[in-house]
Amino acid sequence: MTQIFRTYTDLLERVEGAGRPTRVLGHTPDGSPIVSVRTGGEKTPAIFITAGSHSTEHAGVSAAVELIDQLDTQHQVYIMPTRDPIGLNGYAYALSLGLGEVPQFDSFEDVEAILRDAGEIFYDEDGMLLSLIGDYGYASSRPAAQRPHPQWAFYNKLQDIHNTQPDLLEAFKYRRLYMTPGQPGVEGTGNFGRAYTLIISLEGEVLHLNRFHDTAWAPVEVRCTRRLMAEIQPGITFDLHESQLMEDCYWLSARHQPDAENEAWEQRAAQATIKAIADSGAVLASDDDVLGGVPIEETWFTRSEKGVYWLDATVRGEGLNLADYASRVYGLAFGTEMGMYGSFEKRVSLGMLTVQSAVRVFEQRYR
Ligand SMILES: [Zn+2]
Repeated sequence: MTQIFRTYTDLLERVEGAGRPTRVLGHTPDGSPIVSVRTGGEKTPAIFITAGSHSTEHAGVSAAVELIDQLDTQHQVYIMPTRDPIGLNGYAYALSLGLGEVPQFDSFEDVEAILRDAGEIFYDEDGMLLSLIGDYGYASSRPAAQRPHPQWAFYNKLQDIHNTQPDLLEAFKYRRLYMTPGQPGVEGTGNFGRAYTLIISLEGEVLHLNRFHDTAWAPVEVRCTRRLMAEIQPGITFDLHESQLMEDCYWLSARHQPDAENEAWEQRAAQATIKAIADSGAVLASDDDVLGGVPIEETWFTRSEKGVYWLDATVRGEGLNLADYASRVYGLAFGTEMGMYGSFEKRVSLGMLTVQSAVRVFEQRYR
């Protein structure tokens, strides 16, 4: 039975229980260890698997943990199952960093009361509340009929604020800002089961933990990844994500490579992977699923075959995410996007199948 990790302690127990060497790469501000686990064989180049920079996308985290035992390869494998231990622990836990104790609540009304009573309010409109408690920012965003993705709505609102009233975010610069997910249909996440972590940069940009990979200043979670990658020099990297815009659906996120040989292998691995995913009976996403109706020419994506999207970070802006960075510096890189409103079990299996299929192609290269 595939496990949903409700707490980071549960995840650490499962990872340590696998009986493979683990390593503490650093600690998040609450003192949680950021860990990697080593599996596979001795062959290089290494394989790097990670997930959880967006704590609400939990199937990727569970898939990464399952792969500790279930990725059969002679190559060295390094797995960092989550890059956001605090976010995984949920909104009440994240709130405890500012409050000094874990609060009790079970409704948005309760959360809003805590943010108002304990914090300084900076934005309060339309069911969206932004508060500063101690050194931490907190955002609460109510689900509403016209707002099926409340966390996404507040994220977009914050981008708006950054562009139009940047002074409003002045107090949040260099701070962490935790958002309520508001995803009641998503097992393990729900309204408050995770905290979605944002970091406000010194320039006031509103960024998340899958940014900062190429910046001098970076949050500790990213610095740990960067250092591990520099040490293991991964020939292939996987970052397992999910999309809150989709139900039972999948797409593969690929990266163009700086040289022809790597590019050919990236293409080959992408083709084999999307074929394996389609053969498993999964629904491949359409352009509309991925881009929400925006014509692909107006986005930072191109599509090769159905379900395979190539992201160009130079068009997107916000610097490099982990897969962008891996593709520039180390080698092949892939991300997954499973539809978060699909069955958890199936989402996990698609994450695992992605890695297993692409690794088969990767192994052929070094035969
Ligand atoms: Zn994501």
